[in-house]
Order: sequence, then structure tokens, then C-alpha cells
Amino acid sequence: MSFKDIIKQYEDFNIKDHFSKVTLEDVDKSLKKDKLSENDLLNLLSPVAAERIEEMAQLSHKKTVQYFGRTISLYIPLYISNYCSNGCTYCGFHAESKMKRSKLSLAEIEEQAIIISKTGIKHILFLTGESEKATPISYLVEVVKLLKKYFPSISIEIFPMSVEDYSTLKEAGVDGLTVYQEVYDREIYKVVHPYGRKRDYDFRIETPERGAEAGFRLVNIGALFGLGDIASEAFYTAIHAKYLDDKYPNTEIAVSLPRINSAENEFEQEYRLDDQTFVQYLTAFRLFLPRVGINISTRENAEFRDNVLPLGVTRYSAGSKTEVGGYGEQDDDNVPQFDISDTRSVDETVKMIEEKGFQVVKKDWELINE
Ligand code: SF4
Repeated sequence: MSFKDIIKQYEDFNIKDHFSKVTLEDVDKSLKKDKLSENDLLNLLSPVAAERIEEMAQLSHKKTVQYFGRTISLYIPLYISNYCSNGCTYCGFHAESKMKRSKLSLAEIEEQAIIISKTGIKHILFLTGESEKATPISYLVEVVKLLKKYFPSISIEIFPMSVEDYSTLKEAGVDGLTVYQEVYDREIYKVVHPYGRKRDYDFRIETPERGAEAGFRLVNIGALFGLGDIASEAFYTAIHAKYLDDKYPNTEIAVSLPRINSAENEFEQEYRLDDQTFVQYLTAFRLFLPRVGINISTRENAEFRDNVLPLGVTRYSAGSKTEVGGYGEQDDDNVPQFDISDTRSVDETVKMIEEKGFQVVKKDWELINE
């Protein structure tokens, strides 16, 4: 069964009604298990589980060390274009925005790559707005070939593609795909994606699978917390990751928990994920998904990132800029996609991670043989 069909089965599921029946005893039983079911996941996401947050944090830390050691992998994002044909209501890059658009030439990308490579990080994530016209696959292939000279590991966060096109990019040197569903609630999805290719919920929800089918070694999914009911979105993100992890054992699945930044397109937020609930969900994810990577980006502030580091995180972005070609000198009108909260340099981030007793991994992948 496809994940699209699985999620349809939950159409009449009311998570609040379900939570109203969860007791502390249920939570304790779930915490004693080594392998958690979907029902256990719901127990740990329920408001009553907040009373066990200390215990969840300890178990989550233990499980993470068991599966990943005391390591944090670093990656660095590079925005290469902000042209976009979608109308996401929560993003300043949407197609009707009057902002200045730009797309880096190959020479400009090489300048950025040289600056970034000096940090020692060997995993780059390059991003575009979603415009097949401005950033066609022919351009993306050339970008990958160029970045390959500097980075053994290249991930993409671009418009969703077919398996064939992902295979072309894999052939060129891409090994990781990041694609967020943004919001799993179909009705909200329609409202916040009023036009553009992204409006197609089903095409998007099957994108991680097309990436895994194409053979990427890493597929990173997530919901943008703040668009829909936070507990439901956490639940669907976790079962989506479990589905992918079970179906594609040769693909490393990872989840992100981005929280919408209030500065983004002046979006009015109805739902908010507070810090304590974030920690509860993060640790619930780890206990339900022991093998799955968990990624915390610089959307979160430095203090919060420092605090959650030992609780289940395996991957951090560092020294990030979210303007197109954001490394090096900048024009004042170069607008970021969202504001960075943790503005520390790569060296400062590395220092913090090491002070917490974790080992920094700047390179975790190199393809030796085809
Ligand atoms: S979130 Fe992505 S697809 Fe949506 S408007 Fe922004 S850049 Fe475009």
C-alpha cells in the first residue's frame, strides 16, 4: 500500500479524541517497550506524556548513542536560485512576490563553493525555489558536476521530480534528497498552496519514494510546524518516516522538525510548536524511529540547539545563509528565504558540539565505486 493510501485511512481519525483516552499508565507501558507501535507513538505524542519528558529525554539519548554513537554530522546549505512558480502563503519567495529574483551562474556557484569548502564541511545541500523554467534539469546537472569538485556528498532541495530525472541527478553526483510535505492535512495543504505544481498533494507526498527508487542514499522529509495541528503533523511525519524506513532499507531516512518562522511572508500562525512540546516530539520520534536521522537546522536559536543536541539529534546545519549566494559579501537587497536564528560560524558550532562531548562529522560519505 502506498503512503498516500495509508494517510487516507486516517481521514476520519481525530487525534484529540484519541489523546483524551490516553493515560499516564499507557505512556509508561510504551516507554518500557523496545519496539514501539503506532499506538505507542500516539501515547508519547499525547499531552499526558509531557509529564514523562525527563524519562523520554534520557531514553532518547541512550537510543541515539546506541544507534549513532556520540556523533553529529554537519552540512551546509547553499541557495542558488529564488525563482519560484508556486504560491505558498507562508514563504516570501512565492511567485507573486515583487522581490528581486536571482539565479547563480556556474562561476558564481564556484565562488560560493570555494568559500564554503574552507569550512571543512564536505556535505552540501543546494536549494532552489521551485521553478523548472528558471532551474531546468540541464542547469542542475551542471551545478552538481561543479559542486562535485569540492564536496563528496551533495543533497538537493529543489522542485519534485520523476524517478528518471532524479536518476539523472544521481548519475551526475547527487546522493541526498530533502523534500518536505510541509503539511499533511489535505485541506490545509490546499489553502496554503493556492497555485503552482506544488498544489498537487499526491505528487508531493510520493516524492520521497521516487527519490528512494532513484537510489539516493539519503532521503530527508518533514512537516513545517505551524501550518497544521502540531500533534497530527508530528504523527504523520513519524509514520511517513517509518513507512519509508521499512520499505527502503538501503536508504537512510531522516526527518527534520522545522518550525515556521514568524518573519516568513508575515504568515499568521494558528498553530505553534512550543519548546517543551518540540522536545517531547523529538524524543518520541527517536524512540519510535531508532534508525532514522534527526536534523535540526539553524532556524532554531543557538541556545535551543545546544540544549536539544544530546536528546536524539544526529545532523546539524552550520554557518547557514538563506540568501541566494549568501556566502561572502552581500547586497542589501539580497533577501533570505527565512531568518536564521543560530548565526554562529561553523567553527563556533563545532566548538559547542565538541564541548558537549560529541564528535563532529564533516564528511560521512564518499562514493568509491559505481
Ligand atoms: S516554500 Fe518553496 S515552493 Fe513554496 S514559495 Fe517558497 S520557495 Fe517556492
